[in-house]
Amino acid sequence: MTDATLRRERSTLTGFADNRLDRREDLRNKPDAVTALRHRSDTRIAAVAGETPVLNRTGEDQLSIWFTHGETEMLGPALEEIFLGMAEDGSPRFGRLLDRSLIEPLTARPELMLTDLRSIALKGMVPTEEVGPLGEAKAVLDWHARHRFCAQCGGPTIAGASGWRRECTSCGALHFPRTDPVVIMLVTRGESCLLARQSRFAPGMYSCIAGFVEPGETLENAVRRESWEEAGLRIGTVRYLASQPWPFPSSIMVGCIAEALGDEITLDLTELEDGRWFPRSEVLQMLEGTHPDGLACPQHIAIASTLVRAWALEGEQP
Ligand SMILES: [Zn+2]
Repeated sequence: MTDATLRRERSTLTGFADNRLDRREDLRNKPDAVTALRHRSDTRIAAVAGETPVLNRTGEDQLSIWFTHGETEMLGPALEEIFLGMAEDGSPRFGRLLDRSLIEPLTARPELMLTDLRSIALKGMVPTEEVGPLGEAKAVLDWHARHRFCAQCGGPTIAGASGWRRECTSCGALHFPRTDPVVIMLVTRGESCLLARQSRFAPGMYSCIAGFVEPGETLENAVRRESWEEAGLRIGTVRYLASQPWPFPSSIMVGCIAEALGDEITLDLTELEDGRWFPRSEVLQMLEGTHPDGLACPQHIAIASTLVRAWALEGEQP
């Protein structure tokens, strides 16, 4: 893919999108080859304790998700290890799940930093190109931690395919890591768009509405259903704009722009605290940080920011 193609692709602007690992799916069922990669001196390993990523202080004010062999052994025993892929420099990359009981002792070590994945992405605590692989590692390792038993027969499962599958030891069923689609949409009406807030948002923060895609519906119909349920709005045209891996714990956000067929908003107050039409001029103030009431849009890592910018700054329409 050329740089020009990537620049045109809005998904590249979202957090967790920059993942340059070559996943080498062809190697996953070759345990001898993967074991050989695991033992190479240039192999690097990312670690997650429970749900908390472990970062390596590589210099003053410098953090990295990657550990050498020796550093990894000092972290504690692995509950699971997965093969993430090959880095651009040709070095193998793995992910390692540690027991959550290690969070406290590891936090006490000055050469380490333990914090949640959202903060790491939001605050830019590690180089941008490391955020995507960390999201990949955490999503798959989380899945292992939550799928120790077979959904079919209840028997214990074990990891297979270099960490990309779980196998039931009782009935033989194979289970694969899930990615759950969520639609997130900027609903527009001419020169205004719908922004809403949940009570857990930071004060003054307004964002797009969103919801899980349900079995048996298209992405477009999920946008229409969620817009009706959350805001009482009927929707005409729906258009895809961008997507974002969202490893909390294992979603893919599908970002759309949608055309409302009416003006009257009826909010679902069990989900939303507030919401209304925002004229483009007001959205521009929110993006620039000059809104008179201090209202704001989500941070750049969130796909909601990508959607709002596409409409307000670049003139995208449904
Ligand atoms: Zn089973």
